[in-house]
Amino acid sequence: MSDTQEPRIGVFVCHCGHNIAGYLDVEKVAKQAGDLPNVVYSVDEMFMCSDAGQQLIKDKIKELNLNRVVVASCSPRMHEPTFRRAVEEEGVNRYMFDQVNLREHVSWCHQNEWDNATEKAWDLVRMSVARTRKLESLPVKTVKVTPRTLVVGGGIAGLRAAMDIAERGFEVVIVEKDSELGGHVRKYTHIFPTDQSGAEILKPLIKDVKKHKRITVMLNNKVTEFDGYIGNFLVTVKNQKTGTEEKLDIGTAIITSGFEPFKPKGYYSYGESPDIITLAELQEIPRSEGLVRPSDGKPVKKLVFIGCAGSREPGNIGHEHCSRYCCSATAKAASDLANRVDEVMILYQDVRTYGRGHEELHRLARANHVIYSKFPRDMKPNVDTTSGEIRITWRDVLAAADLQIDADLLVLSSAMVPPEDIVETSKMFSLTRSPDGFFNPEHIKLAPLTTHTAGVMIAGTAQAAKNASESVIDASGAAAKAVALMAAGEVEIESTVSHVIPDLCSSCHTCVTACPYGAISMDSEHDPPIAIVQEAKCKGCGTCAAACPSGAIVMYHSTDDQIMTMVEAFLCYSPELAKRGESV
Ligand SMILES: Cc1cc2nc3c(=O)[nH]c(=O)nc-3n(C[C@H](O)[C@H](O)[C@H](O)COP(=O)(O)OP(=O)(O)OC[C@H]3O[C@@H](n4cnc5c(N)ncnc54)[C@H](O)[C@@H]3O)c2cc1C
Ligand code: SF4
Ligand code: SF4
Ligand code: SF4
Repeated sequence: MSDTQEPRIGVFVCHCGHNIAGYLDVEKVAKQAGDLPNVVYSVDEMFMCSDAGQQLIKDKIKELNLNRVVVASCSPRMHEPTFRRAVEEEGVNRYMFDQVNLREHVSWCHQNEWDNATEKAWDLVRMSVARTRKLESLPVKTVKVTPRTLVVGGGIAGLRAAMDIAERGFEVVIVEKDSELGGHVRKYTHIFPTDQSGAEILKPLIKDVKKHKRITVMLNNKVTEFDGYIGNFLVTVKNQKTGTEEKLDIGTAIITSGFEPFKPKGYYSYGESPDIITLAELQEIPRSEGLVRPSDGKPVKKLVFIGCAGSREPGNIGHEHCSRYCCSATAKAASDLANRVDEVMILYQDVRTYGRGHEELHRLARANHVIYSKFPRDMKPNVDTTSGEIRITWRDVLAAADLQIDADLLVLSSAMVPPEDIVETSKMFSLTRSPDGFFNPEHIKLAPLTTHTAGVMIAGTAQAAKNASESVIDASGAAAKAVALMAAGEVEIESTVSHVIPDLCSSCHTCVTACPYGAISMDSEHDPPIAIVQEAKCKGCGTCAAACPSGAIVMYHSTDDQIMTMVEAFLCYSPELAKRGESV
């Protein structure tokens, strides 16, 4: 189907059940669209993404010889691939399709404004039709995928991901900055919901990883450079002890760089007494004998835990999240230690033992006479060490009373926060971070393991605070994503990228610095050098085109002409002219 053919456009306006049709007049929008120039078919339908909806598009392409399609429905993020596939199956180039977001951009944000919402929907559909008349077919391009994965971090998530990939026949390189594999789990004496130590749990996995012929482990190493694009990355890895560097070609990467336990300075007198420690510090003390005070080696009689130390603090950026491991880990530690001390108390805001087998830990702690006392969120316990004792006073919500205890050992169930060098890692791999400081996934619901850097996945606590089982589930998911890419051998890349017109480029470098994805470089083969775009790295964001002072950059699929046509369609619409086929 050629771009020079007279445009024959089909417009499909979706009800999305009540989601769109409940808030604006979809029938009216579809009917009006039918009068626009080059629109040969226009209809409103209950669910365009359903099999029936997709079939309708295909049938109308065949029956009416449509060569361009507009679907006015939900976010393209959700269903653009669905509709692109549908038109392609009938021989229409996927870039001859446009999707208007009537749900997120209109009905959901104008719920009580029927007329205004209908008018806005009509504006957007009219603009889309105008643009669609100017769309051009673009080629579907692919690049090869190097069959090797880089795993950054050899904690439980990195180990699991590496094993899964290697078992499916692909090479893996684990780059671990520490001198041992196993991450934090390795250090902990008791791992809920089991009765094993972290080292015991990890032993068989570490053994399998070390002896696997397709896995290379690089301890004491960090990635210092990461260049290239999906399927074809060039990585420089530097040994932190010897300074030696190695270059690796890899096709995909999984970042499992984990977390750090928060050192709660400024919370509950932490740092003022050796007998005020974090749960992570408690977890590293061997428990073969009775529990003793770090300060003087005397047996601990009164043991107190305080939950949410540095977590769940609205307004304190980086500490607003629930750390998700601590309620269960605290219940487990308190329960285990209950028969070695006289009294164990847990002071808490809420109890969130949400995982499989975790509620049982909570019940067991109570059965073992661990006392739970709830304090108000806005009235944290006070810890005073001035008398030489660890004196804790707090308000008990349920008893509606102020209480006090002198503890021998105070354990703070402190937050999970990202490692300090996460800033370096995020820059290296062009990953963004959420307010809790961990890496952002591509989409929190629909793509929780992939990132905006195509070919780079995140798993485990690099992505958010979570427990070990959840980290392992992530790791297997990310490994499956990497395997799928490598097994296919090649991957499609978007054609909606930028392009430099060599004759117009004035060699100013503006676009090189403007591009947030490092996709533009200067080609020094030319004299003077001209900018060139590495298409596989380009995300089509348009920043370079807007920044170029010479107008030398064209955005495929969003050309100046296509954008200006939309502006005209918005500003210069006349129903009369439209009827005569003279309006934009
Ligand atoms: C006190 C405490 C108790 C816990 N108890 C339990 C429990 O009982 N049960 C449970 O299910 N969960 C528990 N958890 C949670 C559990 O520790 C985590 O879910 C788990 O460690 C996450 O594994 P991970 O591989 O994502 O990260 P990590 O264990 O943090 O491993 C990350 C690895 O990456 C390495 N690394 C980091 N940055 C780089 C880099 N730039 N380059 C190279 N290597 C890098 C690190 O050195 C580390 O080896 C507990 C957590 C805490 C704090
Ligand atoms: S898991 Fe429990 S202790 Fe940890 S932050 Fe969440 S509510 Fe607080
Ligand atoms: S900003 Fe424009 S003129 Fe300057 S180097 Fe880039 S493409 Fe060339
Ligand atoms: S469109 Fe965006 S990602 Fe692509 S080269 Fe330009 S600035 Fe970089």
